[in-house]
Amino acid sequence: MRDLYGSTIYWHETRPHLPRPALAGRLDVDVAVVGGGFTGLWTAYHLLEADPSLRVAVLEREEIGFGASGRNGGFAMTLLDMGLAHLRRNHGDAAARAAHLAVAGSVEEIGTVVERHGIDCEWVHGGLMVVATNEAQLARVRADLAAAEALDLPGFRALSAEETRAEVHSPTYLGGLLEDHCAVLNPSRLARGLADVVERMGATVLETTDVTAIDEAGARMRVASPGGEVTAEQVVLATNAWAVATSWFEAKVLPLYTYVLVTEPLTDAQWASVGWERRQGIEDKRNYVHYYRRTADGRILWGGTDGVVHAHHRRRPSIRPDYDRHRGVARKLASTFRRTFPQLAGVRFTHHWGGPVGITARFVPLFGTLVPGRLHYGLGYNGHGVAPTHTGGKILRDRVLGKAGDLSELCFVDAREPAFPPEPLRWISAELTRRALLRQDRQMDEGRPGAEMDPLLLRLMSRLG
Ligand SMILES: Cc1cc2nc3c(=O)[nH]c(=O)nc-3n(C[C@H](O)[C@H](O)[C@H](O)COP(=O)(O)OP(=O)(O)OC[C@H]3O[C@@H](n4cnc5c(N)ncnc54)[C@H](O)[C@@H]3O)c2cc1C
Repeated sequence: MRDLYGSTIYWHETRPHLPRPALAGRLDVDVAVVGGGFTGLWTAYHLLEADPSLRVAVLEREEIGFGASGRNGGFAMTLLDMGLAHLRRNHGDAAARAAHLAVAGSVEEIGTVVERHGIDCEWVHGGLMVVATNEAQLARVRADLAAAEALDLPGFRALSAEETRAEVHSPTYLGGLLEDHCAVLNPSRLARGLADVVERMGATVLETTDVTAIDEAGARMRVASPGGEVTAEQVVLATNAWAVATSWFEAKVLPLYTYVLVTEPLTDAQWASVGWERRQGIEDKRNYVHYYRRTADGRILWGGTDGVVHAHHRRRPSIRPDYDRHRGVARKLASTFRRTFPQLAGVRFTHHWGGPVGITARFVPLFGTLVPGRLHYGLGYNGHGVAPTHTGGKILRDRVLGKAGDLSELCFVDAREPAFPPEPLRWISAELTRRALLRQDRQMDEGRPGAEMDPLLLRLMSRLG
Protein backbone atom coordinates (compact mmCIF):
# COMPACT_ATOMS: atom_id res chain seq x y z
CA MET A 1 0.00 0.00 0.00
CA ARG A 2 3.01 2.32 0.43
CA ASP A 3 2.86 3.94 -3.01
CA LEU A 4 -0.75 4.99 -2.33
CA TYR A 5 0.26 7.64 0.17
CA GLY A 6 1.72 9.88 -2.50
CA SER A 7 -1.26 9.45 -4.80
CA THR A 8 -3.24 12.40 -6.05
CA ILE A 9 -7.01 12.79 -5.89
CA TYR A 10 -8.23 10.66 -8.77
CA TRP A 11 -11.10 13.00 -9.67
CA HIS A 12 -8.74 15.96 -10.17
CA GLU A 13 -6.71 13.93 -12.69
CA THR A 14 -9.73 13.57 -14.95
CA ARG A 15 -9.93 17.23 -15.93
CA PRO A 16 -7.03 19.69 -16.09
CA HIS A 17 -7.39 22.79 -13.97
CA LEU A 18 -6.69 26.20 -15.45
CA PRO A 19 -5.72 28.43 -12.52
CA ARG A 20 -7.66 31.65 -11.98
CA PRO A 21 -6.16 34.87 -10.64
CA ALA A 22 -6.01 35.81 -6.98
CA LEU A 23 -7.57 38.96 -5.58
CA ALA A 24 -5.19 41.87 -6.19
CA GLY A 25 -6.18 45.29 -4.90
CA ARG A 26 -9.75 46.38 -4.31
CA LEU A 27 -13.00 44.99 -5.63
CA ASP A 28 -16.54 46.15 -4.94
CA VAL A 29 -19.44 43.72 -5.46
CA ASP A 30 -23.00 43.18 -4.33
CA VAL A 31 -22.34 39.72 -2.88
CA ALA A 32 -19.01 38.17 -1.82
CA VAL A 33 -19.10 34.39 -1.39
CA VAL A 34 -16.25 32.93 0.70
CA GLY A 35 -15.43 29.35 -0.31
CA GLY A 36 -15.27 27.80 -3.77
CA GLY A 37 -16.98 24.47 -3.07
CA PHE A 38 -20.50 23.42 -4.01
CA THR A 39 -22.15 25.69 -1.39
CA GLY A 40 -20.37 28.78 -2.70
CA LEU A 41 -20.84 27.86 -6.36
CA TRP A 42 -24.53 26.96 -6.06
CA THR A 43 -25.16 30.18 -4.12
CA ALA A 44 -23.54 32.18 -6.93
CA TYR A 45 -25.46 30.17 -9.54
CA HIS A 46 -28.89 30.65 -7.94
CA LEU A 47 -28.24 34.33 -7.26
CA LEU A 48 -27.25 35.07 -10.84
CA GLU A 49 -30.10 33.03 -12.21
CA ALA A 50 -32.53 35.07 -10.07
CA ASP A 51 -30.89 38.42 -10.87
CA PRO A 52 -28.30 38.46 -13.69
CA SER A 53 -27.42 42.08 -12.91
CA LEU A 54 -25.94 41.18 -9.48
CA ARG A 55 -22.19 41.58 -9.07
CA VAL A 56 -21.08 38.34 -7.38
CA ALA A 57 -17.53 37.31 -6.43
CA VAL A 58 -16.48 33.82 -5.25
CA LEU A 59 -13.27 33.85 -3.19
CA GLU A 60 -11.44 30.53 -2.78
CA ARG A 61 -8.30 30.07 -0.71
CA GLU A 62 -6.84 27.26 -2.85
CA GLU A 63 -8.54 26.31 -6.11
CA ILE A 64 -12.16 25.59 -7.03
CA GLY A 65 -13.21 22.20 -5.64
CA PHE A 66 -10.14 21.95 -3.38
CA GLY A 67 -12.26 21.00 -0.34
CA ALA A 68 -14.76 18.21 0.14
CA SER A 69 -16.57 19.22 -3.06
CA GLY A 70 -13.77 18.12 -5.38
CA ARG A 71 -12.79 14.96 -3.54
CA ASN A 72 -16.02 13.27 -2.39
CA GLY A 73 -17.68 10.01 -3.40
CA GLY A 74 -19.89 11.82 -5.88
CA PHE A 75 -23.24 10.58 -4.56
CA ALA A 76 -25.92 13.22 -5.16
CA MET A 77 -28.44 11.73 -2.75
CA THR A 78 -31.24 12.66 -0.36
CA LEU A 79 -29.54 11.47 2.81
CA LEU A 80 -29.77 13.86 5.77
CA ASP A 81 -29.18 12.93 9.41
CA MET A 82 -28.21 9.22 9.85
CA GLY A 83 -31.09 8.14 7.58
CA LEU A 84 -34.76 8.77 6.97
CA ALA A 85 -35.92 7.07 10.19
CA HIS A 86 -33.57 9.25 12.26
CA LEU A 87 -34.59 12.40 10.40
CA ARG A 88 -38.22 11.60 11.16
CA ARG A 89 -37.59 10.76 14.79
CA ASN A 90 -35.44 13.84 15.43
CA HIS A 91 -37.49 16.43 13.53
CA GLY A 92 -41.04 15.08 13.20
CA ASP A 93 -43.01 13.95 10.17
CA ALA A 94 -43.74 17.26 8.48
CA ALA A 95 -40.16 18.56 8.82
CA ALA A 96 -38.60 15.26 7.69
CA ARG A 97 -40.87 15.08 4.64
CA ALA A 98 -40.19 18.69 3.63
CA ALA A 99 -36.42 18.29 4.03
CA HIS A 100 -36.35 15.03 2.10
CA LEU A 101 -38.45 16.40 -0.77
CA ALA A 102 -36.36 19.59 -1.01
CA VAL A 103 -33.14 17.58 -1.38
CA ALA A 104 -34.75 14.99 -3.71
CA GLY A 105 -35.78 17.96 -5.89
CA SER A 106 -32.17 19.13 -5.85
CA VAL A 107 -30.92 15.76 -7.14
CA GLU A 108 -33.18 16.17 -10.19
CA GLU A 109 -32.35 19.88 -10.62
CA ILE A 110 -28.59 19.25 -10.52
CA GLY A 111 -29.17 16.82 -13.41
CA THR A 112 -31.05 19.52 -15.31
CA VAL A 113 -28.28 22.11 -14.77
CA VAL A 114 -25.64 19.58 -15.82
CA GLU A 115 -27.52 18.89 -19.03
CA ARG A 116 -28.51 22.49 -19.79
CA HIS A 117 -24.97 23.80 -19.42
CA GLY A 118 -23.22 20.77 -20.87
CA ILE A 119 -21.18 20.08 -17.72
CA ASP A 120 -19.30 16.89 -18.49
CA CYS A 121 -19.31 15.37 -14.97
CA GLU A 122 -20.04 11.70 -15.76
CA TRP A 123 -23.59 11.98 -14.35
CA VAL A 124 -25.32 8.58 -13.97
CA HIS A 125 -28.82 8.59 -12.50
CA GLY A 126 -28.86 4.98 -11.26
CA GLY A 127 -30.37 5.45 -7.78
CA LEU A 128 -28.98 4.49 -4.38
CA MET A 129 -28.89 0.92 -3.16
CA VAL A 130 -28.73 0.69 0.63
CA VAL A 131 -27.52 -2.77 1.63
CA ALA A 132 -27.62 -4.65 4.92
CA THR A 133 -24.71 -6.94 5.75
CA ASN A 134 -26.06 -8.15 9.10
CA GLU A 135 -29.45 -8.55 10.81
CA ALA A 136 -29.19 -5.29 12.76
CA GLN A 137 -28.50 -3.37 9.54
CA LEU A 138 -31.48 -5.10 7.98
CA ALA A 139 -33.66 -3.72 10.78
CA ARG A 140 -32.31 -0.23 10.00
CA VAL A 141 -33.16 -0.68 6.30
CA ARG A 142 -36.69 -1.73 7.29
CA ALA A 143 -36.99 1.32 9.58
CA ASP A 144 -36.05 3.62 6.66
CA LEU A 145 -38.58 1.90 4.39
CA ALA A 146 -41.26 2.24 7.08
CA ALA A 147 -40.38 5.94 7.45
CA ALA A 148 -40.65 6.45 3.65
CA GLU A 149 -44.05 4.80 3.69
CA ALA A 150 -45.29 6.75 6.72
CA LEU A 151 -44.15 10.01 5.12
CA ASP A 152 -45.69 8.98 1.80
CA LEU A 153 -42.39 9.49 -0.06
CA PRO A 154 -42.14 8.14 -3.59
CA GLY A 155 -39.16 6.29 -5.03
CA PHE A 156 -38.30 3.65 -2.39
CA ARG A 157 -38.38 -0.11 -3.01
CA ALA A 158 -37.46 -3.01 -0.70
CA LEU A 159 -34.98 -5.57 -2.05
CA SER A 160 -34.74 -9.16 -0.84
CA ALA A 161 -31.35 -10.79 -0.32
CA GLU A 162 -31.62 -12.42 -3.76
CA GLU A 163 -32.62 -9.17 -5.46
CA THR A 164 -29.78 -7.26 -3.79
CA ARG A 165 -27.23 -9.89 -4.81
CA ALA A 166 -28.66 -10.02 -8.32
CA GLU A 167 -27.99 -6.28 -8.65
CA VAL A 168 -24.42 -6.50 -7.33
CA HIS A 169 -22.79 -9.84 -6.61
CA SER A 170 -21.57 -9.72 -3.02
CA PRO A 171 -22.01 -12.68 -0.68
CA THR A 172 -22.32 -10.23 2.25
CA TYR A 173 -25.72 -8.77 1.29
CA LEU A 174 -28.77 -9.86 3.31
CA GLY A 175 -31.22 -7.42 1.69
CA GLY A 176 -31.61 -3.74 1.07
CA LEU A 177 -33.57 -0.95 -0.55
CA LEU A 178 -33.36 0.98 -3.77
CA GLU A 179 -34.05 4.70 -3.78
CA ASP A 180 -34.61 6.43 -7.12
CA HIS A 181 -33.42 9.90 -6.14
CA CYS A 182 -29.68 9.43 -6.37
CA ALA A 183 -27.11 10.00 -9.09
CA VAL A 184 -23.38 9.46 -9.07
CA LEU A 185 -21.09 12.02 -10.67
CA ASN A 186 -17.47 13.13 -10.89
CA PRO A 187 -17.37 15.83 -8.18
CA SER A 188 -14.22 17.60 -9.34
CA ARG A 189 -15.62 17.94 -12.86
CA LEU A 190 -18.92 19.23 -11.45
CA ALA A 191 -17.17 21.83 -9.27
CA ARG A 192 -14.87 23.01 -12.05
CA GLY A 193 -17.68 22.94 -14.63
CA LEU A 194 -19.99 24.89 -12.33
CA ALA A 195 -17.28 27.51 -11.76
CA ASP A 196 -17.06 28.00 -15.54
CA VAL A 197 -20.86 28.33 -15.71
CA VAL A 198 -21.08 30.97 -12.96
CA GLU A 199 -18.25 32.89 -14.64
CA ARG A 200 -20.20 32.87 -17.90
CA MET A 201 -23.20 34.13 -15.93
CA GLY A 202 -21.09 37.09 -14.81
CA ALA A 203 -19.48 36.07 -11.50
CA THR A 204 -15.87 36.89 -10.66
CA VAL A 205 -14.16 33.70 -9.46
CA LEU A 206 -10.86 34.20 -7.63
CA GLU A 207 -8.49 31.46 -6.46
CA THR A 208 -5.51 31.46 -4.07
CA THR A 209 -7.44 34.14 -2.19
CA ASP A 210 -7.27 33.43 1.52
CA VAL A 211 -9.98 35.35 3.35
CA THR A 212 -8.42 36.42 6.63
CA ALA A 213 -11.17 38.68 8.03
CA ILE A 214 -14.81 39.54 7.46
CA ASP A 215 -16.12 42.64 9.20
CA GLU A 216 -18.55 45.52 8.94
CA ALA A 217 -17.16 48.66 7.32
CA GLY A 218 -19.80 51.36 7.62
CA ALA A 219 -22.69 50.57 5.29
CA ARG A 220 -20.82 47.67 3.65
CA MET A 221 -19.04 44.47 4.59
CA ARG A 222 -15.28 44.19 4.18
CA VAL A 223 -13.64 40.90 3.22
CA ALA A 224 -9.87 41.00 3.64
CA SER A 225 -7.18 38.82 2.08
CA PRO A 226 -3.40 39.27 1.84
CA GLY A 227 -3.69 40.47 -1.78
CA GLY A 228 -6.40 43.07 -1.27
CA GLU A 229 -9.92 43.54 -0.04
CA VAL A 230 -13.47 43.16 -1.29
CA THR A 231 -16.27 45.41 -0.18
CA ALA A 232 -19.76 43.99 -0.55
CA GLU A 233 -23.29 44.68 0.46
CA GLN A 234 -23.65 41.08 1.66
CA VAL A 235 -21.31 38.17 2.37
CA VAL A 236 -22.00 34.43 2.33
CA LEU A 237 -19.70 32.19 4.37
CA ALA A 238 -19.39 28.82 2.59
CA THR A 239 -16.23 27.30 4.04
CA ASN A 240 -17.87 24.20 5.56
CA ALA A 241 -15.43 22.30 7.84
CA TRP A 242 -12.91 25.18 7.64
CA ALA A 243 -15.45 27.38 9.45
CA VAL A 244 -14.03 25.80 12.63
CA ALA A 245 -11.29 28.43 12.26
CA THR A 246 -13.82 31.24 12.88
CA SER A 247 -15.02 32.33 16.31
CA TRP A 248 -18.61 31.98 15.03
CA PHE A 249 -18.34 28.26 14.32
CA GLU A 250 -15.41 27.02 16.41
CA ALA A 251 -17.88 25.33 18.80
CA LYS A 252 -20.52 24.45 16.20
CA VAL A 253 -18.64 22.50 13.52
CA LEU A 254 -16.39 19.51 14.06
CA PRO A 255 -14.14 18.55 11.11
CA LEU A 256 -14.15 14.78 10.59
CA TYR A 257 -11.94 13.13 8.00
CA THR A 258 -13.46 10.46 5.79
CA TYR A 259 -11.27 8.46 3.39
CA VAL A 260 -11.55 6.53 0.13
CA LEU A 261 -9.60 4.07 -1.99
CA VAL A 262 -9.89 3.80 -5.78
CA THR A 263 -9.05 0.62 -7.67
CA GLU A 264 -7.37 0.21 -11.01
CA PRO A 265 -9.89 -0.18 -13.90
CA LEU A 266 -11.51 -3.62 -13.76
CA THR A 267 -11.41 -5.96 -16.76
CA ASP A 268 -14.64 -6.99 -18.51
CA ALA A 269 -14.38 -10.42 -16.85
CA GLN A 270 -14.03 -8.82 -13.43
CA TRP A 271 -17.08 -6.63 -14.08
CA ALA A 272 -19.04 -9.68 -15.19
CA SER A 273 -18.24 -11.23 -11.81
CA VAL A 274 -19.67 -8.19 -10.01
CA GLY A 275 -22.70 -7.22 -12.10
CA TRP A 276 -23.65 -3.64 -11.06
CA GLU A 277 -25.25 -2.87 -14.45
CA ARG A 278 -27.40 -0.08 -13.01
CA ARG A 279 -24.27 1.76 -11.79
CA GLN A 280 -26.11 2.87 -8.68
CA GLY A 281 -24.36 4.29 -5.64
CA ILE A 282 -24.19 1.80 -2.75
CA GLU A 283 -24.09 2.34 1.01
CA ASP A 284 -24.45 -0.07 3.91
CA LYS A 285 -26.12 0.69 7.25
CA ARG A 286 -23.16 0.71 9.62
CA ASN A 287 -22.73 3.76 11.86
CA TYR A 288 -19.54 4.40 9.89
CA VAL A 289 -21.00 3.49 6.53
CA HIS A 290 -19.19 2.09 3.54
CA TYR A 291 -20.02 4.05 0.39
CA TYR A 292 -18.96 2.79 -3.04
CA ARG A 293 -19.61 3.35 -6.70
CA ARG A 294 -18.31 2.71 -10.20
CA THR A 295 -16.31 5.39 -12.03
CA ALA A 296 -16.74 6.23 -15.70
CA ASP A 297 -13.48 4.43 -16.61
CA GLY A 298 -14.39 1.20 -14.82
CA ARG A 299 -12.83 1.60 -11.38
CA ILE A 300 -14.48 1.21 -7.99
CA LEU A 301 -14.32 4.02 -5.45
CA TRP A 302 -14.56 2.48 -1.99
CA GLY A 303 -14.93 4.79 1.03
CA GLY A 304 -15.95 5.15 4.65
CA THR A 305 -15.48 2.39 7.31
CA ASP A 306 -14.09 4.85 9.90
CA GLY A 307 -13.69 8.58 10.41
CA VAL A 308 -10.94 10.54 12.12
CA VAL A 309 -11.25 13.69 14.24
CA HIS A 310 -8.17 15.69 15.26
CA ALA A 311 -7.93 18.03 18.23
CA HIS A 312 -8.37 21.67 17.25
CA HIS A 313 -5.98 24.33 18.53
CA ARG A 314 -5.19 27.71 17.04
CA ARG A 315 -1.55 26.74 16.43
CA ARG A 316 -2.40 23.20 15.33
CA PRO A 317 -5.76 23.25 13.55
CA SER A 318 -7.86 20.14 13.03
CA ILE A 319 -7.59 20.43 9.22
CA ARG A 320 -4.10 19.98 7.79
CA PRO A 321 -2.71 18.69 4.48
CA ASP A 322 -0.92 15.81 6.22
CA TYR A 323 -4.29 14.49 7.44
CA ASP A 324 -5.38 13.90 3.82
CA ARG A 325 -4.13 10.31 3.90
CA HIS A 326 -4.41 7.73 6.66
CA ARG A 327 -2.56 4.43 6.69
CA GLY A 328 -4.82 2.72 9.26
CA VAL A 329 -8.08 3.64 7.56
CA ALA A 330 -6.67 2.73 4.11
CA ARG A 331 -5.77 -0.74 5.44
CA LYS A 332 -9.24 -1.21 6.92
CA LEU A 333 -10.82 -0.09 3.66
CA ALA A 334 -8.76 -2.59 1.65
CA SER A 335 -9.81 -5.38 3.97
CA THR A 336 -13.56 -4.58 3.89
CA PHE A 337 -13.40 -4.24 0.08
CA ARG A 338 -11.94 -7.75 -0.21
CA ARG A 339 -14.55 -9.15 2.18
CA THR A 340 -17.37 -7.60 0.14
CA PHE A 341 -15.98 -8.66 -3.24
CA PRO A 342 -13.88 -11.81 -2.72
CA GLN A 343 -13.99 -12.35 -6.50
CA LEU A 344 -11.83 -9.18 -6.87
CA ALA A 345 -9.04 -10.40 -4.57
CA GLY A 346 -6.31 -9.55 -7.08
CA VAL A 347 -7.47 -6.02 -7.91
CA ARG A 348 -4.98 -3.27 -7.00
CA PHE A 349 -5.73 0.11 -5.47
CA THR A 350 -4.23 3.08 -7.27
CA HIS A 351 -5.46 6.09 -5.27
CA HIS A 352 -6.13 6.97 -1.65
CA TRP A 353 -7.18 10.28 -0.11
CA GLY A 354 -9.55 11.83 2.36
CA GLY A 355 -10.93 15.17 3.34
CA PRO A 356 -12.73 17.01 6.11
CA VAL A 357 -16.51 17.06 6.37
CA GLY A 358 -18.31 19.38 8.79
CA ILE A 359 -20.14 17.51 11.58
CA THR A 360 -22.80 19.36 13.58
CA ALA A 361 -24.28 18.39 16.95
CA ARG A 362 -27.74 17.70 15.49
CA PHE A 363 -26.35 15.94 12.39
CA VAL A 364 -28.12 18.26 9.92
CA PRO A 365 -26.59 21.31 8.20
CA LEU A 366 -26.72 24.88 9.49
CA PHE A 367 -28.09 27.82 7.51
CA GLY A 368 -28.66 31.24 8.94
CA THR A 369 -27.56 34.84 9.32
CA LEU A 370 -24.84 36.25 11.57
CA VAL A 371 -25.33 39.95 10.78
CA PRO A 372 -28.89 40.73 9.66
CA GLY A 373 -29.06 41.65 5.99
CA ARG A 374 -25.25 41.39 5.70
CA LEU A 375 -23.59 38.09 6.60
CA HIS A 376 -25.09 34.64 6.02
CA TYR A 377 -23.77 31.08 6.29
CA GLY A 378 -24.48 27.56 5.05
CA LEU A 379 -22.34 24.63 6.20
CA GLY A 380 -22.03 21.39 8.18
CA TYR A 381 -23.50 18.74 5.89
CA ASN A 382 -22.25 15.79 7.96
CA GLY A 383 -20.71 14.12 4.93
CA HIS A 384 -23.85 14.37 2.77
CA GLY A 385 -23.51 17.69 0.99
CA VAL A 386 -23.45 16.97 -2.75
CA ALA A 387 -27.20 17.48 -3.26
CA PRO A 388 -28.00 19.46 -0.06
CA THR A 389 -25.51 22.18 -1.11
CA HIS A 390 -27.74 22.81 -4.14
CA THR A 391 -30.75 23.23 -1.80
CA GLY A 392 -28.49 25.31 0.46
CA GLY A 393 -27.55 27.62 -2.42
CA LYS A 394 -31.25 28.39 -2.87
CA ILE A 395 -31.71 29.02 0.87
CA LEU A 396 -28.74 31.42 0.78
CA ARG A 397 -30.02 33.10 -2.39
CA ASP A 398 -33.34 33.80 -0.63
CA ARG A 399 -31.45 35.13 2.39
CA VAL A 400 -29.44 37.54 0.26
CA LEU A 401 -32.49 38.66 -1.73
CA GLY A 402 -34.52 39.05 1.48
CA LYS A 403 -37.17 36.56 0.34
CA ALA A 404 -39.05 34.21 2.62
CA GLY A 405 -40.47 30.97 1.27
CA ASP A 406 -40.87 27.26 1.93
CA LEU A 407 -37.12 26.75 2.01
CA SER A 408 -36.68 29.14 4.92
CA GLU A 409 -39.02 26.87 6.92
CA LEU A 410 -36.77 23.78 6.58
CA CYS A 411 -35.70 22.28 9.90
CA PHE A 412 -32.04 23.22 9.41
CA VAL A 413 -32.62 26.94 8.75
CA ASP A 414 -32.13 29.33 11.69
CA ALA A 415 -32.19 26.40 14.13
CA ARG A 416 -30.62 26.83 17.56
CA GLU A 417 -27.51 24.73 17.32
CA PRO A 418 -26.00 23.15 20.46
CA ALA A 419 -22.27 23.78 20.96
CA PHE A 420 -19.52 21.19 21.24
CA PRO A 421 -17.45 21.44 24.44
CA PRO A 422 -14.07 23.27 24.34
CA GLU A 423 -10.78 21.40 23.82
CA PRO A 424 -9.50 19.07 25.15
CA LEU A 425 -12.98 17.79 26.10
CA ARG A 426 -14.18 18.17 22.55
CA TRP A 427 -11.60 15.82 21.05
CA ILE A 428 -11.87 13.35 23.94
CA SER A 429 -15.66 13.16 23.66
CA ALA A 430 -15.56 12.91 19.85
CA GLU A 431 -13.00 10.10 20.09
CA LEU A 432 -15.05 8.25 22.76
CA THR A 433 -18.12 8.56 20.56
CA ARG A 434 -16.19 7.26 17.56
CA ARG A 435 -14.98 4.22 19.51
CA ALA A 436 -18.48 3.51 20.84
CA LEU A 437 -19.96 3.71 17.34
CA LEU A 438 -17.27 1.41 15.93
CA ARG A 439 -17.84 -1.01 18.80
CA GLN A 440 -21.53 -1.07 18.01
CA ASP A 441 -20.69 -1.74 14.33
CA ARG A 442 -18.58 -4.73 15.42
CA GLN A 443 -21.29 -6.00 17.76
CA MET A 444 -23.83 -5.81 14.96
CA ASP A 445 -21.48 -7.84 12.74
CA GLU A 446 -21.24 -10.43 15.53
CA GLY A 447 -25.03 -10.78 15.56
CA ARG A 448 -25.63 -9.00 18.84
CA PRO A 449 -28.81 -6.93 19.03
CA GLY A 450 -28.53 -3.23 18.29
CA ALA A 451 -30.65 -2.48 15.26
CA GLU A 452 -31.45 0.93 16.64
CA MET A 453 -28.70 3.13 17.92
CA ASP A 454 -28.19 2.79 21.66
CA PRO A 455 -30.07 5.74 23.29
CA LEU A 456 -27.00 6.61 25.35
CA LEU A 457 -24.95 6.79 22.16
CA LEU A 458 -27.58 8.95 20.53
CA ARG A 459 -27.40 11.35 23.47
CA LEU A 460 -23.63 11.35 23.30
CA MET A 461 -23.71 11.98 19.55
CA SER A 462 -26.18 14.80 19.81
CA ARG A 463 -24.13 16.50 22.53
CA LEU A 464 -20.60 15.65 21.66
CA GLY A 465 -20.53 14.83 17.99
C1 LIG B 1 -13.91 11.80 1.01
C2 LIG B 1 -15.28 12.44 1.04
C3 LIG B 1 -16.37 11.74 0.52
C4 LIG B 1 -17.64 12.32 0.51
N1 LIG B 1 -18.65 11.70 -0.17
C5 LIG B 1 -19.85 12.32 -0.31
C6 LIG B 1 -20.85 11.77 -1.14
O1 LIG B 1 -20.63 10.77 -1.84
N2 LIG B 1 -22.07 12.38 -1.19
C7 LIG B 1 -22.33 13.52 -0.46
O2 LIG B 1 -23.46 14.03 -0.50
N3 LIG B 1 -21.35 14.13 0.27
C8 LIG B 1 -20.13 13.56 0.34
N4 LIG B 1 -19.13 14.17 1.04
C9 LIG B 1 -19.41 15.48 1.66
C10 LIG B 1 -19.49 16.61 0.61
O3 LIG B 1 -18.37 16.55 -0.22
C11 LIG B 1 -19.57 17.97 1.30
O4 LIG B 1 -20.66 17.98 2.20
C12 LIG B 1 -19.75 19.13 0.34
O5 LIG B 1 -18.83 19.05 -0.72
C13 LIG B 1 -19.59 20.44 1.09
O6 LIG B 1 -19.44 21.49 0.15
P1 LIG B 1 -19.00 22.93 0.65
O7 LIG B 1 -18.91 23.81 -0.52
O8 LIG B 1 -19.92 23.36 1.75
O9 LIG B 1 -17.59 22.71 1.33
P2 LIG B 1 -16.15 22.44 0.69
O10 LIG B 1 -16.24 21.74 -0.60
O11 LIG B 1 -15.30 21.85 1.75
O12 LIG B 1 -15.65 23.89 0.33
C14 LIG B 1 -15.19 24.82 1.27
C15 LIG B 1 -14.14 25.65 0.55
O13 LIG B 1 -13.81 26.78 1.34
C16 LIG B 1 -12.45 27.07 1.12
N5 LIG B 1 -11.97 27.91 2.21
C17 LIG B 1 -11.77 27.55 3.50
N6 LIG B 1 -11.34 28.60 4.21
C18 LIG B 1 -11.26 29.65 3.36
C19 LIG B 1 -10.85 31.01 3.52
N7 LIG B 1 -10.46 31.49 4.69
N8 LIG B 1 -10.87 31.82 2.42
C20 LIG B 1 -11.29 31.35 1.22
N9 LIG B 1 -11.68 30.06 1.03
C21 LIG B 1 -11.67 29.23 2.09
C22 LIG B 1 -11.79 25.71 1.08
O14 LIG B 1 -10.53 25.74 0.44
C23 LIG B 1 -12.83 24.89 0.31
O15 LIG B 1 -12.57 24.84 -1.07
C24 LIG B 1 -17.84 13.60 1.10
C25 LIG B 1 -16.75 14.30 1.64
C26 LIG B 1 -15.48 13.73 1.61
C27 LIG B 1 -14.31 14.50 2.18
